[in-house]
Order: sequence, then C-alpha cells, then structure tokens
Amino acid sequence: MSSHASQERRTATSVLVIGTGAAGLRAAIELAESGTQVLCVAKRRRDDAHTVLAAGGINAALATMDPEDSWQQHAADTIAESYHLADPTVVELLARKAPTAIEDLVRYGAEFAREDDGRLSQRYFGAHTYRRTCFAGDYTGREIQRALVRRATDLGVEMRDDLYVTRLLVADARIFGVYGFCVDDGRREVVLADAVIIAAGGHTRIWRRSSSRRDENTGDAMRLAADAGCRLRDMELVQFHPTGMISPEESAGTLVTEAVRGEGGILRNARGERFMERYDPERLELSTRDRVALANYTEIAEGRGTEAGGVLLDISHLDRETVLERLPRMYRQFIDVAMLDITNRPMEVAPTAHYSMGGIWVEAETHRTDVEGLYAVGECATGLHGANRLGGNSLVECIVFGKIVGAEAARWSASLDAQVRDRSAIAAAGDEVSELLGRRGGEAFPRPLQRAVRDLMSECAGVVRSAAGLNEGLVRLDAVAGRIGEMEVRPDIAGFDDLAHAFDLKGSVLAARATLECALERSETRGAHNRSDFPEQDPGLAVNLLWRPGEPVAREGVGEPSPEVAVLLQGRDEMSVSGRLLE
Ligand SMILES: Cc1cc2nc3c(=O)[nH]c(=O)nc-3n(C[C@H](O)[C@H](O)[C@H](O)COP(=O)(O)OP(=O)(O)OC[C@H]3O[C@@H](n4cnc5c(N)ncnc54)[C@H](O)[C@@H]3O)c2cc1C
Repeated sequence: MSSHASQERRTATSVLVIGTGAAGLRAAIELAESGTQVLCVAKRRRDDAHTVLAAGGINAALATMDPEDSWQQHAADTIAESYHLADPTVVELLARKAPTAIEDLVRYGAEFAREDDGRLSQRYFGAHTYRRTCFAGDYTGREIQRALVRRATDLGVEMRDDLYVTRLLVADARIFGVYGFCVDDGRREVVLADAVIIAAGGHTRIWRRSSSRRDENTGDAMRLAADAGCRLRDMELVQFHPTGMISPEESAGTLVTEAVRGEGGILRNARGERFMERYDPERLELSTRDRVALANYTEIAEGRGTEAGGVLLDISHLDRETVLERLPRMYRQFIDVAMLDITNRPMEVAPTAHYSMGGIWVEAETHRTDVEGLYAVGECATGLHGANRLGGNSLVECIVFGKIVGAEAARWSASLDAQVRDRSAIAAAGDEVSELLGRRGGEAFPRPLQRAVRDLMSECAGVVRSAAGLNEGLVRLDAVAGRIGEMEVRPDIAGFDDLAHAFDLKGSVLAARATLECALERSETRGAHNRSDFPEQDPGLAVNLLWRPGEPVAREGVGEPSPEVAVLLQGRDEMSVSGRLLE
C-alpha cells in the first residue's frame, strides 16, 4: 500500500468524464440516457466552463434560410478551410449529424433565435457558402451550456466542480481510473472507472495573449493523454484571432469581436496609416482572420505598432447611438475593464491565441485514443479543423462527438468482464502530488514559471515562426522545465489553488514542447501556421504530424473525401467573407 493511501478517498463509477464544458456534458447526457453510471468532474464551476465564452453561433446545414444548403456543402467548406488537413471521415460525420445535434439542444431547452414564422434563424459565419449558423444573440455558448447543465441535472448526472485530475490510471495500456485532488481541501482522490472521456479543453492559455481566461486551457488534456501513452496530433496548428485586448494586463488577449470590423471598424498603425490597404486592398479590414492576424502582427513586429505593442482599432467615426446599439457588449467590456469609451477613442489590439486545432489523436469514427477505454472529445481532440477552423464548428463538434463518445464509452464499459488495476500506477500518482507538497526551501513558484512559458511561446512561436525562434523556444523551455524540480507549492487557508497552478504548469510545459517540436517539423506556411523561413505551402507536408514525448515527430497521411464532397471541392477559390462574422 502506498504511504498516502490512507489519505486517499476511493470511489468508483462506470464512466468518468473529465470536463463539464459542452463536450463533457453532452457525453455525460448520452451515458445517463443509456442507463450507464457516469461521474462528470471539472476544476472550475460547471456554469462557468470555457464554453460560456462562445459568442457567435453553432453550425448545421438545416437549410432554414438557404434551401440549397446540404451536409455535403458544410463538409466541403470545412475541408477547404482546413487547408486540406482535416480528416474527411470526421468532417463528413460531423456535417451529417449536425442537424440532430441542434435538435437535441432545442429538446434540452436551448433558445436559439427564430424567424417570425418559427423557423430557426441562421446567419453567415466566415467562409461558409450558405447561412448555417444558429445563434442566441451573442451568448450562444452560455445558452448551450445552460441547456446542457439543466438536462444533465434533470437526468441525475453526478457532477463535481472541485476535482482536479492529475493523472490517468493505466494498466496494460488500458484505463482503469483517474487520480486527483479536491481543489477546496486538498483531499486526494482515486476514482476507478471502466472508461474515461477527456473533454478538458485546449492549450491556448500558454501564450501571453489568449482569449481564454486565467487557469483554463492550460494544456491539461494533452499532458494527461500523453503521459498515459496517447499520441498528440498537429499541436503546432493554433488559431490566432487578429484582435485581442492589450491592456489592462490581467485582461490581455480578451477577444475584441470581429463584429467591430464588420460594423466598419478601421485598423491603423501608430503612424495613423490604414495598413490593411497594403495587405488586402479589396477587402481591407474584412479580409480573412489569418490575414488580418498576420497584418496586425507584421505592423507590430516591424515597429509600426503602438508603444504598448498593439495597433489601433477605431469605431469612433460611427455615431454613438449606432455603437451602443450594435456593439453593446464591446462597449461594456472596454468601459468595465479599461475605462475606455470606444465611441470616442480607438481600442488598442493585437493578435491573441484563440483555438487549439491540434490536440489528442483520436480514431475518426469513435474518438477512441491509443489507450483502451480512453476517449477524447471537444477542443482537446483533433481531426475536424486541420490548419484553420471554420467559425461555429467547434460547438457543434462538442455536441456531435460528445454524443458519439458517450455511446462508445457505454458500450466499452458494458463489454468488460473484469477490470485490471495497477497499484503501482496509483502509488506513482500519489507520489507526484506528495513530492510537490513536501518540498520546502524551493526557489521557484508556479505563477512566475507560467509567465515564463507564456513569454517564450509568444516570442518564439506566435503568429509567425522560424527555425531559429522555435529552437530558441525549446532552449528556454528546457530552462523552465528544469526549474519545476525546485518548485515550491504552498496551499493556504483559501484552498489548494497553488497545487492546481503547479499542475497547470506541467500541462503547459508539455503542450509547449509538443507545439514547438511540431512547428519545427512543419517547414511550410499553411493556414494558421506561418513560417518566415518557409513562406510557401509544401505539397509534401499535406499530412498530419504525430507527437510523443522524446520521440521524433512522425507523419500520417490524410484520407480522401467521399465523391459527393470531393466534387464540391473541385476548382474552389477563396471565398469573399465581407460582411460575415468570423468568430
Ligand atoms: C471568446 C470565444 C468565442 C468563441 N466563439 C465560438 C463560436 O461562436 N462558435 C463556436 O463553435 N466556437 C466558439 N469558440 C470555441 C468554443 O467555445 C470552444 O472550442 C468550446 O467551448 C470547447 O468546449 P469543450 O467542452 O471542449 O471544453 P471547455 O468548455 O474548455 O471545458 C473544459 C472542461 O475541462 C475541465 N478541466 C480542464 N482541465 C481539468 C483537469 N485537470 N481536471 C479536471 N477538469 C479539468 C474544465 O474545468 C472544463 O470543465 C469560442 C471561443 C472563445 C474563447
């Protein structure tokens, strides 16, 4: 028996879900509806999961507004926007099942906008051929989260907001539970389970400017999976949104919605030049997200940015009433956190890390991982977005594949005759926590080290990368990783946040390493990945990159779409996105 076994609480469930965002909750609902016992855990409050930040909408080819729309067209748009790195099987499954996903949400009580005759309204979003994005004002994520929490509660799903998972427990390449601690009182917990679903989000918080809030998207999902023996895929593919806030420091990266540009917002550098005239003279500020992000980055990098390191986004030429009516959330956001009235002063903005397109490798149809009984879903999984995410596709991914992994995990649990456990795996997980808590006299602390990771990722692996920068990033990361061994963790009367930060840091370091190594291997420019030393797309790199700690990056070919989707992709040119929301 391990020395800490006496302090550990042991419980068991059939399926454990890590994450109470849209993906985790949808999986839990499926499990409960099938009569399978499920426990859904998270490290922050379920009504405040990252999913609530989603604003613009959720996609499905319902054809309520444009009768010509079809699942095939939705699939073709997604593959084209992915720069042909998305897995066509994942994409086609998503596009076919998206309408049922919306039906499910409506059945759970989600109130999406409707036309006067009762049809669900759908709007344009980014590079979609037709209007296929359902929405609830600009609070779509919050509305979906509310409906899912209510449905899960009605079904009696056991949910916990206080269990930080530190390790997956594996015996003979098969999952048998998780190890963690309660963030309020530090109690250690072992939860035995036949199957585990990881729905723990992405890794965009490892950049200094991120549209994620503090302590979310710290790469936990990737670390848990990689430590358990899973492969990660395409970790270098991260979507940067062109406009995040710059100040105050604690709000750096918070999204400034694309709607500001949609309403006529003008971008200028510190010299007052409307620089988009040089990057995309036709579409100007309404150019595609990756282009505007690159333009903003270049202006700042080449010294034409503001003193604080941004560019200016100005909407003050519109009359005050119009701004208040069309952009009420933005007006409030800047008044609240920056005391800036956007109706008479420009906003200072810069690119911000927004979405993890890479993550855990999953098999296309079941979303199983490399470990038996372990599944991954939502932003932490890969396959759908390739090198550029189509706005509105991530919420529907959570709902479609949440349902699928729920059914798969239920099946796996029902098929088991016995569960093999490994006491040494539990003991090792306990030792990891004890070691951090027992250290005294250390000279390193989690917050400054997190800051060091964010600095190096921003400086060495931001919007534009190069071999020299990425190699420098790896050297700096080694230095941070070395200091983890000296890190001191001091829980206090307020709880075990410090221990959570230490594990967040471990997740961030692993996710950063995978990102840097894959970014070095992808010696081309494709979608959101810009290499200044390889500015062209390389047809030989139309592959997915697979990463495991300590191993060379491997390559995996991308499959072919079905003939009915392939035909829609032939001779397709870049689409004009003017007047369309892109979030
Ligand atoms: C500002 C903004 C706007 C967006 N707008 C849109 C949009 O309009 N349309 C769209 O489709 N997408 C949008 N997105 C993207 C979308 O919101 C996310 O991709 C999606 O919500 C991810 O959901 P998820 O369930 O995978 O993970 P999350 O909602 O991130 O949930 C992760 C869960 O895992 C838990 N967790 C993490 N680590 C641990 C751990 N170690 N132990 C225990 N629990 C853990 C967390 O507590 C949380 O419950 C937007 C994103 C942002 C930031």
